[in-house]
Amino acid sequence: MSFTIAIAGRPNVGKSTLFNRLVGKRLALVDDSPGVTRDRRMADAKLLDLKFKVIDTAGLEEAAHESLEGRMRQQTEMAILEADATLFLIDARAGVTPLDEGFANLLRRAGKPVILVANKAEGKRGDAGLYEAYAMGFGEPIAFSAEHGEGIVELRDALIEAV
Ligand code: GDP
Ligand code: MG
Repeated sequence: MSFTIAIAGRPNVGKSTLFNRLVGKRLALVDDSPGVTRDRRMADAKLLDLKFKVIDTAGLEEAAHESLEGRMRQQTEMAILEADATLFLIDARAGVTPLDEGFANLLRRAGKPVILVANKAEGKRGDAGLYEAYAMGFGEPIAFSAEHGEGIVELRDALIEAV
């Protein structure tokens, strides 16, 4: 089985950290400042027994000629189009923000499978955000930590179900 997964979400939720974990090479730039990824990046990914292609979406620093939201929407739409399913990341510690809601609307309109990933959920600090995430209507969010590698098995099972 061959499939492609997009990683989408607002800046700083951990998309590139997850991308790097899946790809195992540092192809996407990760930085403490939001929106450091410069391009959409596609690479071969591996998650336990699954092999697939993954697309990271760009950040915001190229937004000079366009509105931030316009730029993000464009990048995300392109990635979603190419992908069989999308990993929609939110920051479980921050909860669901208006920008997250914007991405959610975009993903709903695309009508493709969405796996909601509540990242930064290590150590129970994301519990409140998990409840908010559940209310977004994408099914049960996966409590995840891209940095610490928590929720890997759950993510693998969700991918199998989605594609
Ligand atoms: P992106 O803008 O969505 O690509 O986010 P990045 O991957 O660049 O990560 C943004 C910040 O969040 C960085 O400082 C990461 O180290 C941090 N981060 C990413 N994943 C996690 C996580 O699982 N837990 C915590 N606590 N921090 C994380
Ligand atoms: Mg990034």
